Amino acid sequence: MSYKVIKFGGSNLQTVNDPGRCAGIAEQYSTPCVIVVSAFYGVTDKLRQAAFDAADSGKFPSGYIEVLTDSCFEHIKLNIDDDRVAADTGKEVQALLDRLSDLYRGIHAIGELPLSIHDSILSFGERISAVIFNGVMVSRGLDSVLRLPEQIGLVTDGEFGSASILLKESAKKAGKHFAGNRYFVVPGFYGVSDEDKITLLGRGGTDYSAAALAYLLDASSLDVWKDVDGFQTGDPKVVSDPQTIKRLSYSEAAELSYFGARILHPRTVEPLQPKNIPVRVFNVGSSSGEPATIIGPEPDNGYTSPKSITFSRHFSVLKLKGPGVGIKPGILARAAGIMDAAGVNISSVFTSQTAICFLLQSGDLKKATRAVKVHAPSLISDVETINDIALVALVGEGITKRHGVAARAFQAVAAENINVEIIAAGASTAAIYFVVKENDCNRAVMATHSYFFGNERQTLLQHHSDLTSVVL
Ligand code: ASP
Ligand code: MG
Repeated sequence: MSYKVIKFGGSNLQTVNDPGRCAGIAEQYSTPCVIVVSAFYGVTDKLRQAAFDAADSGKFPSGYIEVLTDSCFEHIKLNIDDDRVAADTGKEVQALLDRLSDLYRGIHAIGELPLSIHDSILSFGERISAVIFNGVMVSRGLDSVLRLPEQIGLVTDGEFGSASILLKESAKKAGKHFAGNRYFVVPGFYGVSDEDKITLLGRGGTDYSAAALAYLLDASSLDVWKDVDGFQTGDPKVVSDPQTIKRLSYSEAAELSYFGARILHPRTVEPLQPKNIPVRVFNVGSSSGEPATIIGPEPDNGYTSPKSITFSRHFSVLKLKGPGVGIKPGILARAAGIMDAAGVNISSVFTSQTAICFLLQSGDLKKATRAVKVHAPSLISDVETINDIALVALVGEGITKRHGVAARAFQAVAAENINVEIIAAGASTAAIYFVVKENDCNRAVMATHSYFFGNERQTLLQHHSDLTSVVL
């Protein structure tokens, strides 16, 4: 028996007609089929905002609960024709909304938002959409059942906010909950710790939930449905002529996601790679029935050009200065330990004789600076920060092993008079990235994209025989 796992994200669940449209897509699949759903579009952000408001100002978010309730019942009314199924679904949804209200009332009473309650509250977006989606499937006469992460034992390491799924532990229980040729609807985005606490898998984590289920069930593929044409050579909002990328390796997809392409959660390929399960990215808006992008095992085919250019804004550098910091043993570990304790994620690190530089998300900069000043004043003589920078990444299997890729990118950027602040390569064989001022980011991406994928590249292809093997 071969399972398919499919995933519908918030962008597929935006309008009231969308659940019906997605159910129509799911219906085309043969069973057994596991459908993993995100919250309806925008719901997670609102649940989160309401939770912080309730904790900060002590206001109970009754207005938001009302809006959410109306929207849920509107979805049920318009997508579920069968009266009995509509009534049952309505009851289940109401029970969830009541539990959600209780949680908000709790925060309102204590005036703070513990991490465990934060994660519980945000999981309600997926709980609600899964109940409604399953109702839609049943009302279409399909044999569909709901399976919750806590029932099937989707076990995490317990880290609130961005937990990892423990695949081996989860494998012990999960399989038996998916017996029979049916549709199974599973809410994404959360798992449970071994202390039975709800733990979120990071924003956009439904892809990762779906990938874990594909692993647990030895699925033949993970099909991720989007409202765009899969992975492209550049962000269509920035470059004028992006092309769809038909095939990506697991590491290319992971690097592109890490460096800013917002198609998949960066951890999606992790559970799939050991079992060679492909990810097929489909566009709901396409009538071809073909996946836009397929991600799977793919060797380094000797490409001499990147397959895609991506970027990520809102980065900062924290520079710790002092004589010999770069070579004194232990300082890097100590500084990294301080950041870890402060809950700061380090995106990259580079050192010289006189400075250690940490590349961080801008939102973490204040926290990181404070932590270093408090915990390591004797370690460093000066702390400097560089704000408002962006990463531009070139991704393609093996590009770090070919000479000249970085040089060509810099040529393109230099021609636009853009200063490259930092360059890094080598951490992965599939990515080279450089750092520019945030203001220069769009121009740097356009210049590099047009150099590798635009008319300039065509000229290069004609003139350099060593580039004729480039396949995109
Ligand atoms: N609803 C969650 C989020 O907005 C998870 C997801 O969409 O995958 O982050
Ligand atoms: Mg999402």
